[in-house]
Amino acid sequence: MTRLDNRQIDQLRPINIKLGVVKSADGSCYLEWGRNIVIATVHGPKPMFPKHLADSTKAVIDYRYRMAPFSVSDRKNPVPGKRDKEISLVSGFALEKAIDLEQFPNTVIDINSIILSADAGTRAAALTAASLACADAGLPMKGLVSAVASGRANGEFVLDLTKDEEDTFDAVDTAIGVLMPQNEIVLMQMDGFVNQKDWKKIISVGVKGAEKVYELQKKAILEKYPLEGDLQ
Ligand code: UDP
Repeated sequence: MTRLDNRQIDQLRPINIKLGVVKSADGSCYLEWGRNIVIATVHGPKPMFPKHLADSTKAVIDYRYRMAPFSVSDRKNPVPGKRDKEISLVSGFALEKAIDLEQFPNTVIDINSIILSADAGTRAAALTAASLACADAGLPMKGLVSAVASGRANGEFVLDLTKDEEDTFDAVDTAIGVLMPQNEIVLMQMDGFVNQKDWKKIISVGVKGAEKVYELQKKAILEKYPLEGDLQ
């Protein structure tokens, strides 16, 4: 069974990743994922201002997910709404799991993901890119967050839904972030209604998809930072 865009049910859209594209940032990542385009940047760790927001035991992550006004055909209001704030908050919690924050008390790490073009699955693409930008910044990483959407469309359990699939009559759309290689789910959000049995299938499709995303993330890191000699 193929899909509206002729993919197999467990097939990701084409993903293209490049690290270090924003030279003014400490770390950055450009990511194309089907018709989604994301740029993620990292600035910091740097001293937290105002100081009362600092944590004396660890760095604070300030993650912001935003869609550019031109990212969709109906101009997106650039003022962050409830959706942007919720995505930023929960994705920030996921990133906290991936970084050894205790090394940088009283600091803040600013992480921004801007969606330049959107076709569903943007929060997953943004989180995947943000985690790579953190690695590019040389932050001490416990792992990478590999994120993807899975769900149901036209009666099939599918990986990486497009906007057309998200708009089908029976759509269920779940965003999953997995800390890899630990295989620990650090983000899960869902739109739609589903029973427990189908839910388990959707999660299983998502977790397998996240493993594929992880392989592409590792490849992108090795392209910029090739291993030498015995480590290769
Ligand atoms: N979208 C839009 N305007 C908005 C929010 C979303 O046109 O204000 C579109 C955009 O293409 C987005 C898709 O709807 O990728 C699905 O949005 P959703 O909230 O499900 O998040 P996503 O799947 O992108 O993580």
